[in-house]
Amino acid sequence: MKRMKNFQKIKGFFIQKLAEAGYDGIIGVARFKSVYDDLMPIQRVRLEDICGGEFRSLMESGFIICIGIAFPEYAIDSINVRLADGTIDKNKWNLYVKEYHKINNLLNLISREIADSLGGIPIQATIEEMPTKNVEEYYGITVSHRVVAENAGLGWRGKNELIVNEKFSCAIRFASIIVDLPLPSGRKIESLCGECEACLEACPFLKNKDKLENYRENCRRYIIQLGLDAPVCGKCIKACYRNSIFSNRFKLSR
Ligand code: SF4
Ligand code: SF4
Repeated sequence: MKRMKNFQKIKGFFIQKLAEAGYDGIIGVARFKSVYDDLMPIQRVRLEDICGGEFRSLMESGFIICIGIAFPEYAIDSINVRLADGTIDKNKWNLYVKEYHKINNLLNLISREIADSLGGIPIQATIEEMPTKNVEEYYGITVSHRVVAENAGLGWRGKNELIVNEKFSCAIRFASIIVDLPLPSGRKIESLCGECEACLEACPFLKNKDKLENYRENCRRYIIQLGLDAPVCGKCIKACYRNSIFSNRFKLSR
């Protein structure tokens, strides 16, 4: 009862903040220990560092709140559009980049506010800079929000390695807040991708991820040469939203 009451209060605050900013989103809770156990070893060390002296008690009784904000539809439809001459419309693609920044900033703001009100620890939406030498540089400086979202039951792990939510597809960005407060936690959802391969068809690196040494490194190099206003791509997100077996069910606003 107390757990649910705590959660409803946090959810109410989050929904109010989203409404003020004009965005849709989702919120859930994962057990701290479940997240820790699923992280790659280098990210476990990062999580231990973030938590400092509180780490032991968080392993016993802690939770991680996951907040997600969905992209507006127009931003997803701005990804990888061709001009009449066949070249890519990068100005349009940069509308997606603009929303990416806006959503990250909003996530950072809200996660800080929630953390402050609960005496928790916020984990920022993302490190917006792309590693300069190798994608592996990135692993140790952050904690995977995807692992948190997955353990909070906010979606299943798609073939594109993103979290696929039943309403917003994988067109969501996440931030997390570590708390030592009784909360009701979610459960992992089994993948519903089935025979769908829309994201794999949209990206040769995803399609060949089992053959490549580390497809994320191919992704990093592709994104850098793409040369948008930030190191992002999003083709695998658009493919899931527009071309997957669930495209009739997913719905973003605007
Ligand atoms: S972001 Fe782009 S390059 Fe990276 S996996 Fe997705 S579609 Fe492929
Ligand atoms: S495009 Fe299809 S296979 Fe890929 S993540 Fe979405 S539902 Fe799963």
